[in-house]
Parts: sequence; C-alpha cells; structure tokens
Amino acid sequence: MAVEQTLVLIKPDGLIKSLTGNILSRLSETRLVIIASKVVRVSRELAEQHYEHLKNEPFFEELVEYIIGDVHNTHRVMALVYQGDDAIKKVRDIVGHTNPEKANPVSIRGAYGRITTTGVFENVVHASSSPEDAEKEIKLWFQADEVVGDIYPVKDAVLKEVRQKVWA
Ligand code: UDP
Ligand code: MG
Repeated sequence: MAVEQTLVLIKPDGLIKSLTGNILSRLSETRLVIIASKVVRVSRELAEQHYEHLKNEPFFEELVEYIIGDVHNTHRVMALVYQGDDAIKKVRDIVGHTNPEKANPVSIRGAYGRITTTGVFENVVHASSSPEDAEKEIKLWFQADEVVGDIYPVKDAVLKEVRQKVWA
C-alpha cells in the first residue's frame, strides 16, 4: 500500500446542513491524518478549474454555482487534505457513489446527499479519485506552506508586489 494524499471538500450543502462534525467523524474512521484544512470562499475561477473535466456537461454552470455557494447562499467550502496508506480509496469508500441515489445509505453521500429537480447531484462532499487528480486538486486549493510536510517538490521563492489583504 502506498502513502497517498487526497483532497476532501465539504461542499456548501454540507456546511449549511451543519454536517461538518458528522462528516469529519465518519472520515476519522479511516485513521488517516489531516495535514491541511481551511474554510474557503470559492472564486468562479477556482470552481471552473476544479471541475474542468466536466466543462462540456450540460450541468456545468449549475455545478459551478453549487460549489461557489450561490445555490445554498453560503459562500463557504471546507477544504482538507488527508494522508496515509491507500488514502484515496479509503476516503472514497466512506464518501460513497457520485449519485446519492446509487450510494450505499451508510456512506456520507447516501446518508446526506440529494438530487435536485434539475438533476444536479448535491452530494455534500468531494474526494479525489486518483493520485494524479489529488495532486492537481491539492495544488489548486492549497499553497505549499499551508500543508504540513513536503508532499510534492517545493522550491524557495521571494514574492514581490503580491496584492493580498492584511490586517488593518
Ligand atoms: N455531478 C452531477 N451529475 C453528474 C455527474 C456529476 O451533478 O451526472 C456533480 C456531482 O456533484 C459530482 C461532481 O459533479 O460530485 C463531480 O463529478 P465527478 O464525476 O468528478 O464525481 P465525483 O468524483 O465527485 O464522485
Ligand atoms: Mg471527481
């Protein structure tokens, strides 16, 4: 078994339904280690990059509005990185099938997900599905210094004239 990392997102429906504690408890059954976490206000750019593989699907625009939080009127997503042996499969098994109706009722998506009348799967959580996807997604959602441990190669860089908010 290989040590892997995997990105987990608690989507806006998971947050608005106050499922954060339940979801983290279920994921703790895996005995994996959390090496990064934060609450994110998702930009359209981040949403479109995260779901790039689905950009030609008819539901793409609705999916982007869902992950941004426009659908649930809460612009928050909780992002976490879990690490450990076989992390990707262990998390996907507890998360369950993409379609909440097909998901095992004991899985997170089976227990808490729903299908909207327009057909989008509001399935409460995201979990990476391969080591390649995990690397792409973790690098998209986290800066290198937000993750505990050098999971991918890093380099030192001196950043100049970076515009960001600081405490006033
Ligand atoms: N999705 C959907 N309808 C579909 C396929 C996907 O609404 O027919 C949504 C669903 O929220 C899913 C996300 O798009 O979680 C990403 O799709 P993917 O195929 O990557 O599934 P996942 O890896 O999340 O199980
Ligand atoms: Mg996927």
